[in-house]
Amino acid sequence: MGLDGWQDEQLPGFVHKLDRNEEFNFACHKGVGCFTECCRLLDLALTPYDILRLRRATGIDSRILLDKYVIIEQEADESFPRLYLTMVDDGRGSCPFVSPNGCSVYQHRPGACRVYPLGRAARQDKSGKIEEQFVLVKEEHCRGFEENTYQTAERYSIEQGMTEYCAFNDAFAALVHSEKTSQGFIPTTSEKELFLLVLYNLDEWREILLRGEYDSIDNKAARTMGQSTDEDLLLFSLKWFNERIFG
Ligand code: SF4
Ligand code: SF4
Repeated sequence: MGLDGWQDEQLPGFVHKLDRNEEFNFACHKGVGCFTECCRLLDLALTPYDILRLRRATGIDSRILLDKYVIIEQEADESFPRLYLTMVDDGRGSCPFVSPNGCSVYQHRPGACRVYPLGRAARQDKSGKIEEQFVLVKEEHCRGFEENTYQTAERYSIEQGMTEYCAFNDAFAALVHSEKTSQGFIPTTSEKELFLLVLYNLDEWREILLRGEYDSIDNKAARTMGQSTDEDLLLFSLKWFNERIFG
């Protein structure tokens, strides 16, 4: 999410901006009456790093993961497609990973699940510094606000393991909310396909790199990236795609 999408007048009544050190009352655990209620009827947008982690949690090839668990949507006024987790058709719109014991991919759950009931938007200024804005999402069904545990956005984000996610998600946000995209940049169909391949479909992208089939990447660099960790490959791809599209 870019910061521009969080103007006060655009926020629903149950969402409030929050300073990073402002306190709020919240705890979530198995004993709350609403346990896993927030894992249903969701528009859960997935970043490339979310997919990397879900792939690790499930052990499923990225091609199959995208096919089985992801809906790809393209809005007419947006530059790049958005990816959402496909909810199960069980009459409750449940997340495919929710179980009676909670989240079955807990260690690798998406960033939006980690940070909930907060939301975080970020943008990079011209010097490369990250500006961030938190919001608190107080949904009626969430009983976590009745718990006597004081949190701050900063503390809660760190506790929930967001530091690593932010490093990747901020680089992704800089790409999809760049100056050019905000000016209405529309990529070609093949550029959109490349976006999905190099950022979300790391297994297929790695195979292409290892076969040296991508003309605009030098064979030695392609082999090195093809043999690197998922994290290094994703960081490389974010930078490479940004340079290729925006120069
Ligand atoms: S991934 Fe886990 S935490 Fe997120 S909605 Fe699904 S079950 Fe809930
Ligand atoms: S609705 Fe709130 S308290 Fe209940 S499980 Fe979800 S985050 Fe926790």
